[in-house]
Amino acid sequence: MSKKFFLPESEMCTQWYNAIPDIPGGLEPPRHPGTGQNLDPSELAIIFPEPLIEQEVSTQRWIDIPEEVNDILRLWRPTPLVRATNLERVIGAKARIYYKNEAVSPAGSHKPNSAVAQVYANKQVGIEKLATETGAGQWGSSLALACCVFGVECLVYMVKCSYEQKPFRRSMMQTWKGRAIPSPSDTTAAGRAVLADDPECPGSLGIAISEAVEIAAQNPDTNYALGSVLNHVLLHQTVIGLEARKQFAMAGESLPDVVVGCCGGGSNFAGIATPFLEEKLTGKKDIRFVAVEPAACPTMTRGHFAYDFGDLAGLTPLLKMHTLGSKFVPPGIHAGGLRYHGMAPIVSALIRDGLVEPLALHQNECFEAAVTFAQSEGIIPAPESSHAVRAAIIEARKPENTDKVVLFNLSGHGHFDMLSYDKYFSMQLEDFDLPQQHLDAAAQHLPANTA
Ligand SMILES: *Cc1c(COP(=O)(O)O)cnc(C)c1O
Repeated sequence: MSKKFFLPESEMCTQWYNAIPDIPGGLEPPRHPGTGQNLDPSELAIIFPEPLIEQEVSTQRWIDIPEEVNDILRLWRPTPLVRATNLERVIGAKARIYYKNEAVSPAGSHKPNSAVAQVYANKQVGIEKLATETGAGQWGSSLALACCVFGVECLVYMVKCSYEQKPFRRSMMQTWKGRAIPSPSDTTAAGRAVLADDPECPGSLGIAISEAVEIAAQNPDTNYALGSVLNHVLLHQTVIGLEARKQFAMAGESLPDVVVGCCGGGSNFAGIATPFLEEKLTGKKDIRFVAVEPAACPTMTRGHFAYDFGDLAGLTPLLKMHTLGSKFVPPGIHAGGLRYHGMAPIVSALIRDGLVEPLALHQNECFEAAVTFAQSEGIIPAPESSHAVRAAIIEARKPENTDKVVLFNLSGHGHFDMLSYDKYFSMQLEDFDLPQQHLDAAAQHLPANTA
């Protein structure tokens, strides 16, 4: 039988781990979207609250978690660590497999870990309204939940095709008092510009971010919240790996040999992986960190490491990251949360420094792994998480990993994604091999002098 390791509430993390001071080659600063000069952090204050800006640029290794934040996280944390013995048997694993189950949060993924911390920080400085974007609906529903808890208004620009295809994520936001607007919309200049060009535009994350940032920049009582990519978001997710460290001791294991996570913007991967960096950096254990992305949106394996915008309209600061170009529109694969053109600067820098190995997988092999997981461990993974499941299975079967330990993050469940499973079962899912010229065309729009 698979075994669960529960931490008592008294063992909840009291501090987040900030990886920035431990990145060997350092992190390059964000630049101003207009001038291209290094950004003064205070310039972020039009859309972000001071406590989050401090976290964004902090070089302190440990940062206290406010008690008010932990009081909410306590509703589902600590999350279980599970030894996946049933899965091991079914796949003929050579290694032991453990997973951290982040699907147990109210919204069904790791995202509320950061949503709660972000809404609290905004509440602290008197912000009454938050604007954000959402693709598949995971981040929008997580932010709506956190806003509901703290009594902050929540406005979510939801990529139009998801708005139409995922009515239940919309209802979830509504239940938590969030308002979802299909993007592109006529409520912003950025949205109107896109609609003028193409009234039938299905939307993209890049467009939705432009709309939400515009609303936040123009209204003093409104701020913007981002669900991944930024340093403070990755920081909030480190509770995943920090809890796992303690649970490994309970399980009688010292440390994992391989840590796996799927990557959209990089937050759940960094959350499980970076708390294990210390042993790698000090040479105590040569842990491998595997960051998994869809082959249809190959930011880390085929992107450029360059300064680029986070959104389509070029309103966000320029970040030094792996990117396919902010004009890149990924094919409509079924892991909506992994369809983003960029990657967190922290994860990008760790790849540059040779500490993180990127891996690209096709969606059909990931769904196949997800079904194997559901049939052995019970939980139906989110399509995003299925990438981590597939990579964990690949690692656990390698002869060189005999008797080793593979840890992966189950970032969420797939209860709202059964339409995608349907498509997989009826063999309607395509595996996309992006032609190089498609990627080259998008890369031509990278801002100049951005190496
Ligand atoms: C959003 C999401 C992801 C991808 O985002 P990261 O910031 O890379 O973690 C992965 N899994 C699930 C379930 C998600 O909702």
